[in-house]
Amino acid sequence: MLLGCIADDFTGATDLASMLVKNGMRTVQVIGVPGVGDSVPDVDAVVVALKSRTAPAVQAVGESLVALEWLRAAGCRQFFFKYCSTFDSTDEGNIGPVADALVRVLGCGFALACPAFPANARSVYQGYLFVGSVLLNESGMENHPLTPMVDANLVRVLSRQTEGTVGLVNFATVEQGAQAIRKAMTGLKEQGRRYAIVDAVSDPHLMAIGEAAAGHALITGGSGVAMGLPANFRRAGLLEIRGDSAALPTMIGAAAVLAGSCSRATLFQIATARERVPTLELDALATPDAAALAGQAQAWMVGKLGDGPVVIAASAPPEKVAALQAKLGREAAGALLEDALAAIAETLVAGGVRRLVVAGGETSGAVVSRLGVKRLRIGGEIDPGVPWTYAEGGMVALHLALKSGNFGAPDFFLKAFL
Ligand code: ADP
Repeated sequence: MLLGCIADDFTGATDLASMLVKNGMRTVQVIGVPGVGDSVPDVDAVVVALKSRTAPAVQAVGESLVALEWLRAAGCRQFFFKYCSTFDSTDEGNIGPVADALVRVLGCGFALACPAFPANARSVYQGYLFVGSVLLNESGMENHPLTPMVDANLVRVLSRQTEGTVGLVNFATVEQGAQAIRKAMTGLKEQGRRYAIVDAVSDPHLMAIGEAAAGHALITGGSGVAMGLPANFRRAGLLEIRGDSAALPTMIGAAAVLAGSCSRATLFQIATARERVPTLELDALATPDAAALAGQAQAWMVGKLGDGPVVIAASAPPEKVAALQAKLGREAAGALLEDALAAIAETLVAGGVRRLVVAGGETSGAVVSRLGVKRLRIGGEIDPGVPWTYAEGGMVALHLALKSGNFGAPDFFLKAFL
């Protein structure tokens, strides 16, 4: 085992695992930290999927350290803390507190931080995170139900979350390649910086950053910066060259989409699907009760499940999210809809659904936990960062695609099932 990864949500974990598979590492995603008696999979990388992004910081730190211990015991040589390419977090954390704890336990004193993912239009320039052509805080992320991002300057954002200090490896340095990046990071570490936000606007930048981080115990970032890591292991003679093994066992059964993300991309994907396939939009303002919403969905789906997908969505535009949050509070509103969608997932699977797309990181966490899934084998990608997976360990095996809210083309919910 070479690379041990800790992801702060389930869609992010799948995104990272897919990146590693595409670059030639045999990778398994495990849901939560495996038990002491569970066997260590025979792979090059393991991604431990946690649901820690919006947990209290103390809990997120605790769970991440348990994951780190398991990965160390499994023999990993390098560690990766995966968070969202839109740096989803609050001023209380959890990116800073978790990274601080990992740096402390690993004794490495320094880690780079790079959420850039150009294939999905996330780039970092002069420390500012862009989504497409706009700053993070103008991208819709300022309205996220749980982690509103109102500042695009990652040096500032991370500084507010960490006990350490944060520097920047800027575009001009990154353009010069791996050696210059390595030198800049060493310089920042010597100045006492604990983190460096590293600019990246293209895949060659990410490859160079990965190469520069070859000797680092810990790397933090989005899945993009993991792109360059497999090559380091190959250069060191630790990783065989092999094609990716994306073929999954075939799956026959009905198809469904469950959406809990309120991101612009997901709202657009629901609107696109609504034109073509049966779509139910839950109204939590009218029925603020998870069991009752699940009951409505159960009644609605009768006679609709088949080869083509049905779509069931809690997702709503910012004004409706704000109204529900005003009524129930932010966390209770999120938890209510996560509970409802998790219960609906159980009903869908009981009704024969074996191909399920879930939109939203927290939502995916709730659904996957309820279905009792233990491991995900990674298959081919539907869109960058969103592969089909083969979910094992639950009541039945099924194909699952866990989509980070903002990922995917407008017709994602349709093309997933073509
Ligand atoms: P993303 O991947 O876009 O971050 P998440 O699933 O992580 O999506 O987060 C979306 C959160 O919003 C979840 O907790 C979900 O339950 C909550 N949510 C979904 N629909 C609504 C709604 N109509 N009102 C308020 N919160 C909602």
